[in-house]
Amino acid sequence: MDRIVIVGGGVLGMMHAVQARGRGLDVVQLEREAAPRGASVRNFGLVWVSGRAPGPELALAKRARELWEDLAAEVPAIGFRPHGSLTLAADDAELALLKEAAEMPDAAQRGFELLDPAAATHANPALRGEFAGALLCRSDAIVEPRAVPAAFRDHLLATSPAVGAGYQWLPGREAVEVAAHAVRDHTGTWHKGDLVVLCTGAAHTGVAGRHLAGYDRPPVRRVRLQMLQTEPFGTRLSTSVADGDTLRYYPAYDLPARARLGPQDPAAAAAGAQLLLVQRLDGSLTIGDTHAYGEPFGFDLDETLYDLLRGRAQRLLGTELPRTRRRWAGVYSQVTGSELYHRSVVTEGVVLVTGPGGRGMTCSPAIAEETFTG
Ligand SMILES: Cc1cc2nc3c(=O)[nH]c(=O)nc-3n(C[C@H](O)[C@H](O)[C@H](O)COP(=O)(O)OP(=O)(O)OC[C@H]3O[C@@H](n4cnc5c(N)ncnc54)[C@H](O)[C@@H]3O)c2cc1C
Repeated sequence: MDRIVIVGGGVLGMMHAVQARGRGLDVVQLEREAAPRGASVRNFGLVWVSGRAPGPELALAKRARELWEDLAAEVPAIGFRPHGSLTLAADDAELALLKEAAEMPDAAQRGFELLDPAAATHANPALRGEFAGALLCRSDAIVEPRAVPAAFRDHLLATSPAVGAGYQWLPGREAVEVAAHAVRDHTGTWHKGDLVVLCTGAAHTGVAGRHLAGYDRPPVRRVRLQMLQTEPFGTRLSTSVADGDTLRYYPAYDLPARARLGPQDPAAAAAGAQLLLVQRLDGSLTIGDTHAYGEPFGFDLDETLYDLLRGRAQRLLGTELPRTRRRWAGVYSQVTGSELYHRSVVTEGVVLVTGPGGRGMTCSPAIAEETFTG
C-alpha cells in the first residue's frame, strides 16, 4: 500500500492520517467544511477509560490511552493531561456501586481507588460540595478537543517532505461519490488510493448513505448532546469530575449494586442527563451532557437542561459557577449492535469507519490503528 485517501477531518480521520503517515504512506484528506465542525471539536476531550466495559472495550480504550500519550509527546498542541478523574457518589447506594467497581478484577488496570470524602477533596481541592465518597480513576486523561484536529493537521503538514507530497489537506471538498479505490469530490475531481477510508462521522445520508441504506437494520444511529462552557473558574481542578448519574450509563458499572440505585431525578432521566465536568487549559469548564435519540432532533438548545447541569456542577463544587460563555449541541454516530464501532467495506478498496459513539474521542487512535493492523 502506498497511498490512502481519507474523507473527513474529525478525530477519526485525523488518527487515520497520523497512522498512515507513520507507516510511510502518502495521504490525501478531504473535509467538506473549511475546518472540522463535527463531534470531534464539540466533545469534552475526555480520554475516558473508567467507564468502559470489561474485556475488548477496555482493551481498546487502554491501547488508545497509550497511543494518546505517545502522540502528545510528538504533538504537544493537543493539550494532553494525564489528570485522572473522580466519580462522586451522592448517597450510600451510589457509594456501594463505586465500592464494587473498585473491587472489579480489572480495577488495577483502570487505576481505580475508592476515596472517602476527605481523600477526594485532597485529590481535587476544588470539590467543596457534599458527597459520600469518590472513585479515582488514574487512567482517565484530557485533551483539548477544539485544538486536536488542527494540531494534527499542522503536524502532518510540517512533517511532510514537500508541499503536495506526503500529506495533503483539502478543506472545502465534499465527497459525493465512491468507486473502487476512489472517491469523487463535489468539484468533480477523483481522488484515487490503494485504500479510501470514509470517516464521515454522523453524516449517515451523505457519501456513506447509500451503503448504510443497504442494511436491513441500520448499523448506526445518531445521538444529540447539549453542552456548555463557562468563563474561567478561579480554582484549578486537578481531575475531571463525573456525578453519580454516570453510573447509570457507563457499562463498567453494570454491577449488582446498580440495581439498588434509587430512581434518577425525573428531569435528568427524561434528558438522559449525567454530569461530566472538565477544566480547559484556559481555566474555563466544559459541562454536559444530555442525550436525545429521537430524530428529528431539536434545532434549538433547551435552556432547562442547562439549568439542570449548572445546578449539579454547583452542588459538587460547592460554589457559584462563572457565567456561561457558550452553549452548543453535538451529534455523534453510534453503533446499534454490540460491536465497539462500525467498520464495513463500501466497495473494493473503500471502507467506512464510524459509529464509536460516546467513546470516539477516547478510542480513535486505536480504531485507526486497527484499520492498518486488523
Ligand atoms: C457533545 C459530545 C461530547 C462527547 N464527548 C466525548 C468525550 O469526552 N470522549 C470521547 O471519547 N468521546 C466523546 N464524544 C464522542 C466523539 O466526539 C465522537 O465519537 C468522535 O468525535 C467521532 O469522530 P469522527 O471523526 O468519526 O466524526 P466527526 O467529528 O463528526 O467528523 C466527521 C467529519 O467528516 C466530515 N464529512 C462528513 N461527510 C463528508 C463528506 N461527504 N466529504 C467530506 N467531509 C465529510 C464532517 O464535516 C466532519 O468534520 C462526544 C461527542 C459529542 C457530540
